[in-house]
Amino acid sequence: MVIIIGQIIAIANQKGGVAKTTTAVNLSACLAEVGKKVLLVDMDPQGNASSGLGVDKLSLTCCIYDVLINSAPMRSVIVSTQIKGLDIAPSTIQLAGAEIELVAEISRELKLKRALESIVDRYDYIIIDCPPSLGLLTLNSLTAADLLLIPIQCEYYALEGLGQLMNTIKLVQRHLNAELSILGVLLTMFDVRTNLSSQVSEEVKKYFNDKVFSTVIPRNIRLSEAPSHGQPIILYDTRSRGAEVYRQLAKEVTERGY
Ligand code: ADP
Ligand code: MG
Repeated sequence: MVIIIGQIIAIANQKGGVAKTTTAVNLSACLAEVGKKVLLVDMDPQGNASSGLGVDKLSLTCCIYDVLINSAPMRSVIVSTQIKGLDIAPSTIQLAGAEIELVAEISRELKLKRALESIVDRYDYIIIDCPPSLGLLTLNSLTAADLLLIPIQCEYYALEGLGQLMNTIKLVQRHLNAELSILGVLLTMFDVRTNLSSQVSEEVKKYFNDKVFSTVIPRNIRLSEAPSHGQPIILYDTRSRGAEVYRQLAKEVTERGY
């Protein structure tokens, strides 16, 4: 088996609703299920990854905002989850302010990278769920990451905005993080009944070639139900197709090396 040296994976695409959070939550849970020690960092002020893993955001006294803005140590915000081996650094709506507050900070793009340095040794994988924008929260995530996973929804306009994302990645590589590389592109919400899904899939493969994961995530109702129960799919419906494909993705991620 190939060992991945870079272990910090950002899940990014500035489009909303492409399954960034669904992938962050379920990939993290499936990696933990096979014995990996995993930290999920929720960098989206909407905090969907946090609630998707059952974190009661109202009861939190601190979150990733305090790490980025108040220099709180990373370990002070990390909480464990129902899945053995999976921890989360949660976010709350307070994080929305960070996008503006960071602007005036020195080394504003390096806050997350610096914060993760103190705990990176404790985990096999750190997965970062990015917000749907290319602002400072995403820049912090791309600067902290070794690898990038880009989910693409198999819908019309799927490729729109990808040029912008690729430009941002190039700028980050040039100025902030020369080590950043693309781990893979993940086709999500694939619908076997439509030609459109196949067409999008073909186009994405033309553009990204062998960077596209062999695992394709189909539309699966259980995957969309699980977050409202605060559970990853492997707890909510462990035998569902959704659980099966995210287990397969986790296998591909552990096998894909550099
Ligand atoms: P993002 O984080 O990119 O905004 P989400 O992961 O929140 O996207 O997904 C957007 C919506 O689509 C959510 O309601 C989610 O439950 C649903 N969803 C994601 N993946 C699937 C899937 N494979 N099948 C069905 N629904 C999905
Ligand atoms: Mg999200």
